[in-house]
Amino acid sequence: MSKNVLILADVRDKKLRNVALECLAVARMIADGGKVTATVFGSSAKDLVEQLAHHGADHVITVSNPELDQYTSDAYFQAFKQVIEKVQPDAIFTGHTAVGRDVSPRIAARLGLGLISDCTSVEVQDGKIIFTRPIYAGKAFVKKAVKEGLIFATIRPNNIEALATDTSRTATVEDLVVSFDKDLLRTIVKEVVRKTADGVDLSEARVVVSGGRGVKSEDGFKPLQELADLLGGAVGASRGACDAGYCDYGLQIGQTGKVVTPDLYIACGISGAIQHLAGMSNSKVIVAINKDPEANIFQVADYGIVGDLFEVVPLLTEELKKV
Ligand code: FAD
Repeated sequence: MSKNVLILADVRDKKLRNVALECLAVARMIADGGKVTATVFGSSAKDLVEQLAHHGADHVITVSNPELDQYTSDAYFQAFKQVIEKVQPDAIFTGHTAVGRDVSPRIAARLGLGLISDCTSVEVQDGKIIFTRPIYAGKAFVKKAVKEGLIFATIRPNNIEALATDTSRTATVEDLVVSFDKDLLRTIVKEVVRKTADGVDLSEARVVVSGGRGVKSEDGFKPLQELADLLGGAVGASRGACDAGYCDYGLQIGQTGKVVTPDLYIACGISGAIQHLAGMSNSKVIVAINKDPEANIFQVADYGIVGDLFEVVPLLTEELKKV
């Protein structure tokens, strides 16, 4: 049965995040000939319409209020709620990102909806839409279907292929001016101070080179950064490395850090504690470099190198430079 599907497009630095395109792919799949609407917030919204159309949106609702240039729970909640009330969708998708993880449960609670969060795959089986999501910190997966009512889910970045760009596609556009209840806007962002360096976004990176306590110092991350740069990837870290002060907590991967699903995850000097595995064990290919052959990380690694990371990583970089 055809469905009217709405997605909230995640934006970072005035650009669409890949997960917005991944949500569109899910929306297109389950719409079954129905209408796919994307909504995008902030003053750059109108510049993003074409890209949304090329990746599957039939209709784009831009909400360009300046209050939406930076994420705040209250403003996004009010704007998203008004868009939902206007579209009256049968299904809603957001990215399982800092934005989606915050605004989606708020919406679900206020509108009395269920929410399937952190979906790693969505498929249609015998007419039923089946969502797969991890449980027990990624140790197991559960499949869920919505029996009745509105479908609402957040999609984990990097798990679902975006549709190929189709430049012949166009979308109708509607600019919605949201009226905010100013008394309910309790937060104003005055300044954004980036603690992590610019570069590839860790949660969307195709390659992550991650360091643990084994890197031993802030300088110990330099060879990892060099390898990541060469591979067009991002640097991540274990909490051990963050706690030791070798890097910023913004790099932490794991249960209480970021969840990543790159094509290639290179773990350097990381023991493989369960809390770390929760953030990276779904990576497509895992390479572990550790001098302890008994390290737990080798249990999840596709390729293991027993050795000193300060010898192995520069050697890898040198060899890859020749390719
Ligand atoms: P270690 O366990 O100390 O391992 C260092 C490894 O480096 C060792 O295996 C060693 O053999 C190897 N090594 C040392 N020198 C070299 C060298 N020269 N070359 C190669 N290998 C070398 N952790 C996370 O990562 N993310 C989380 O989100 C997270 N959340 C947590 C939440 C809770 C509630 C709790 C209790 C813990 C959490 N932890 C988390 C911490 C986790 O339990 C581990 O303590 C942490 O992951 C260990 O980090 P590590 O592997 O870098 O350090």
